[in-house]
Amino acid sequence: MPELPEVEVVRRGLEKILKDEPILEKIELKRPDLREPIPAKKLSTLVGEKLLSVERRAKYLLLWTKKGAMLSHLGMTGTWRVAPPGDERLHDHIYLHFSGNLRLAYRDPRRFGYFDFVQNPLEHPKLKGLGPEPLTKNFSGKELWESLRGKDVAIKVAIMDQKIVVGVGNIYASEALFAAGIKPALPAQKLSRERADVLAKEIKKILSRSIELGGSSISDFAQASGESGYFQSTFRVYDRAKQPCVTCGQQVKSKVLGGRNTFWCSTCQK
Ligand SMILES: [Zn+2]
Repeated sequence: MPELPEVEVVRRGLEKILKDEPILEKIELKRPDLREPIPAKKLSTLVGEKLLSVERRAKYLLLWTKKGAMLSHLGMTGTWRVAPPGDERLHDHIYLHFSGNLRLAYRDPRRFGYFDFVQNPLEHPKLKGLGPEPLTKNFSGKELWESLRGKDVAIKVAIMDQKIVVGVGNIYASEALFAAGIKPALPAQKLSRERADVLAKEIKKILSRSIELGGSSISDFAQASGESGYFQSTFRVYDRAKQPCVTCGQQVKSKVLGGRNTFWCSTCQK
């Protein structure tokens, strides 16, 4: 499943392709729905408009015109690609036709992707109530510490809560806690202000690094989603149960926490 770094790589790819602000001439649906209906009528508001920018909020992409935006979530297997005439593939569900003979294809074999028309992101049911973006100034040790007050869930479960901070998936949560020297099961409210600073910094570092790796090792941005293998070679603790800790040599431990596989070193993480 594409995580925040992969979605950001896709956003950057789309931004580059759409930088000349082409006009959206036609939205061609190959089917009326994914798992949910595609709101074709609402989306048709965007036809005839210039595509001005591509934003990301959590794992949602927003393709903005002056009349509103197309909201796109990649689900498990969604990808965007430039599809010149002749490049039609199985599971292409949507084609966006732009001026300048540019055509974008949305392909999604498992159809967990999601589309909507948005005018005010703050009011959209999928976007309102989301916590801060981890890579902005709105997310810092201070904010993190404040949002953890009174929470007795495990710190790992807390940082994966989209209301506290968006986009920290299971792998990134384990890796950030290892880098910060914090054990995953620590009750969230027991995290000191100083350690919250370290954790916020490590979350930013790990997501930024993953974006850079995705951006540099994937030539076709469309391949970015669904494949998170490029980050895999750099795991320091995730998926390394019973292997020696990269720092101290102690066996890496694992257990299920909040329903997700969790990995940590009991010597390096307190
Ligand atoms: Zn260790």
